[in-house]
Amino acid sequence: MDSEEFRRHGHAFVDWMADYLAGVEDYPVMSQVKPGEISAQLAPSAPEEGEPMERIFADFQAQIMPGITHWQHPSFFAYFPANSSPPSVLAEMLTATVAPQCMLWQTSPAATEMETRVLDWLRQMIGLPEGFDGVIQDSASSACLCALLTARERATEWRGNEDGLSGLAPLCVYVSEQVHSSADKDVMVAGLGREYLRKIPVDDNFAMQPQALEAAITADIAAGRTPCCVIATIGSTGVGAIDPLASIGDICRRHGIYLHVDAAWAGSALVLEEWRWMIDGVAAADSFAFNPHKWLFTNFDCCAHFVRSADDLVRTLDILPAYLKTEEGDKVIDYRNWGVPLGRRFRALKLWFVLRSYGVGEIRRRIADHIEMAGEAAQWVEEEADFEILAPLSLALFNFRYHPVGIDDETELDRLNEELLRRLNASGDLYLTQNVVRGVYAIRFMVGQTYTQPHHVSAAWQAIQDTARSL
Ligand SMILES: *Cc1c(COP(=O)(O)O)cnc(C)c1O
Repeated sequence: MDSEEFRRHGHAFVDWMADYLAGVEDYPVMSQVKPGEISAQLAPSAPEEGEPMERIFADFQAQIMPGITHWQHPSFFAYFPANSSPPSVLAEMLTATVAPQCMLWQTSPAATEMETRVLDWLRQMIGLPEGFDGVIQDSASSACLCALLTARERATEWRGNEDGLSGLAPLCVYVSEQVHSSADKDVMVAGLGREYLRKIPVDDNFAMQPQALEAAITADIAAGRTPCCVIATIGSTGVGAIDPLASIGDICRRHGIYLHVDAAWAGSALVLEEWRWMIDGVAAADSFAFNPHKWLFTNFDCCAHFVRSADDLVRTLDILPAYLKTEEGDKVIDYRNWGVPLGRRFRALKLWFVLRSYGVGEIRRRIADHIEMAGEAAQWVEEEADFEILAPLSLALFNFRYHPVGIDDETELDRLNEELLRRLNASGDLYLTQNVVRGVYAIRFMVGQTYTQPHHVSAAWQAIQDTARSL
């Protein structure tokens, strides 16, 4: 493809992109295809001869788009958001075009220096104290893995990487019962063993009980095991639980345990002063991570990972073969040492575009709007006799179920709500996901998509009521 052809297709693609975003509501939110339907249309092997872009693009529209679930649809109320925004998409186009490899300062100085600066902008925006250094990881899962590895090395006096863990006392990790499943996976990957992952009971608000944490730590020490890391969650995935950071931090300090804070979703809400109480006590944390790729209008992947001691992180992950040495040496940051993969995309650029294009004030207003819309929806649910809230509003998330008067059999209620969710998602008009709260089937309602407006939320609530009552 020569540059004139590239220009022509590029212009046509941008037109398609603008039309897509303007008309995204015309698509069913959740893809309506059946398993295997897409692959049945794809050639079994790559073509020998190149094909014209017109044909590839036509197939993209005809064969691929039906198999897309539209995360940028304003009636997306499932999971947590994976938001993009126009400035973020424009930046991604530039990143894809320039396509630098940002593993070392020298391999693109602007990428490294911008990453440092933009992460400090974010640090200030969310009220994280000075003394935290930021790096962009691909995901909150990766940030948590880095935390566990650093905690492991500290707890083994930096011998784990060299000698392995066999022969050592087991290293224990503490999380709440509401923790994200990525903690389990990270404990497996870090070689710590799920046997030593302690799921601490939660209180009535689904938050970790500090006394129970203390008791678990004490019991492990008494049994000759080594407490290694606590992961506190700010805004759990199921119900939006907020662990008490100040008490947890005290316990970690007293026992010399590494503290990681997972605020993957809720971290974005810290742009609002009135939510800063969620991180009271964060000064005691060793690391903190949240995902601008969820609620901060920035394309996946972009996890902001802040560490108290970059030296400890780098000491944990540093490998320096001859072919990666550069003359700048210690005078600059080489982010390759701050995470697991060597290669790195230029991810800071989209954040820089988003933060400059919206400004912090507009970002605050949009997130406050999401929280307000979710609050209103929770109110509506509360007011109906045949619906019940199972986990109250936390930021912009609540859990509820349909509970018609006269039906109290739990199995029957689970079945009804499963069927309700299935029908709602099959309608294509909205997208919600399920949860289990204190043993019962619940439907999560989360407001946070970039383009969601109040009328989308009220239409969703209307659809939920109509569908439920027609069951
Ligand atoms: C979404 C989420 C994660 C995982 O995020 P990834 O970036 O996809 O790894 C971890 N923790 C919490 C609380 C989350 O909500």
